[in-house]
Amino acid sequence: MYMNAFSNALSQLKNSLDIKDEYDKRLFDILQKPQRVVTVAIPVRMDDGSVKVFTGYRVQYNNFRGPYKGGIRYHSQVSESEVKALAFWMTIKNAISGVPFGGGKGGIKVDPKKLSQGELERLSRAFIREIAQNIGPDIDIPAPDVNTNSQIMAYFTDEFSKLKGSWQPAAFTGKSVDQGGSLLRTEATGLGGFFILEKIAKKYKLNPGKTTIAVQGFGNVGYFFAKFAHQAGYRIVAVADSKGTLIDTSGKGMDPDKILETKREKGLNSGCYCRGSVYDCSGKVYRSQSAEKVLYQNVDILVPAALENVITSKNASRIKARYIIELANGPTSYEAEEKLNKKGKTVVPDVVANAGGVIVSYFEWVQNKSGDTWKKEYVRGRMKEMMNEMTDNVIYTAEKDNISLRAAAYRIAFERIKSAFLFRI
Ligand code: NAD
Repeated sequence: MYMNAFSNALSQLKNSLDIKDEYDKRLFDILQKPQRVVTVAIPVRMDDGSVKVFTGYRVQYNNFRGPYKGGIRYHSQVSESEVKALAFWMTIKNAISGVPFGGGKGGIKVDPKKLSQGELERLSRAFIREIAQNIGPDIDIPAPDVNTNSQIMAYFTDEFSKLKGSWQPAAFTGKSVDQGGSLLRTEATGLGGFFILEKIAKKYKLNPGKTTIAVQGFGNVGYFFAKFAHQAGYRIVAVADSKGTLIDTSGKGMDPDKILETKREKGLNSGCYCRGSVYDCSGKVYRSQSAEKVLYQNVDILVPAALENVITSKNASRIKARYIIELANGPTSYEAEEKLNKKGKTVVPDVVANAGGVIVSYFEWVQNKSGDTWKKEYVRGRMKEMMNEMTDNVIYTAEKDNISLRAAAYRIAFERIKSAFLFRI
């Protein structure tokens, strides 16, 4: 069932482009491989006195448009192939969204839920010591991803600043506001997804009160998306995390804040920041099922917001939702998308739908470099403007060329990377 994420990413590129000339061909060949893969062994002293060695990666995919930019993931499934795929998608996403960055990504193969807070801190600091020579405000700027947050960014920034001998806030984004982070960065990816939802609703004349949504993943991205959609009157009828799916049996739709509250109250404190599960909220009103079931709900909109490769050629026929808004990176395989398209479903691709995060990361970087601090309404306004411009551009190209939204997004990104490339040769 598992398809290599990197092969999937390259299939998406190949099948989106219309290679016209020698320069297209040259760039296409360049984009088959990352410019640099840094693999490090990270020894960490555990609380019991033993030493464990973890593997970490930083993939610097392409920097024709600016410094590499992309998150760092902590997960037991992290592999070089996965990080390469994620770094490739960042290259495409940063080009379409218009931020002046190339693409990169990083990760450590670890289950952070099994570490104490002290072990997590030592692991995070040790990782930064290993990759310090390869990153920096004008070289490569990491950010949060799955299982990393502003606390982890605080360890990174502090360790990197100590190594450089000066405060280096612009080397990382996704920091807490008191550490130089931007207002709205925490909410940004979910909020950007909500702006996309509003676009879809307007284009296809969906009435929020009658529109049902299922969300896979109840972490940073899934929770904030669900919260904004709920506030705007959409009906969140199913949410899932890695432990299970919660289904609303009242028909009214769920309040994501209530779920988060119960998850935190009931969740076991494993010593780190990942606490509880949506599963803890199951009872009379909410029925619980296995995690995968969230994908097959009879809803209008499905929002994968967990991990990649969850909609494959094997299960695509079971997807009932008419619209799929990809907030996770790479949730749909190339073959699965072909099947969904044939059934008349609309897939809003990850490189467009989840760009809100990197857009506000860009704002954070600009604020850190200039020493300015922007007000929340200003950040929201600029973000919405960039999200809308990007989405309109992608929809226009898709309709003009009669291609999928993903193919349109890849074509626009490719042209922009090509322009930067042509100036260099
Ligand atoms: P997170 O760690 O905060 O949350 C991940 C969630 O997914 C958790 O609730 C986890 O339980 C759930 N999950 C894991 N496996 C699952 C499964 N098999 N079924 C159902 N749920 C499962 O991570 P996040 O930051 O919210 O990132 C989620 C996705 O969004 C990732 O693909 C990430 O690359 C992408 N993304 C994140 C950002 C960002 O700003 N954080 C930006 C762009 C894209």
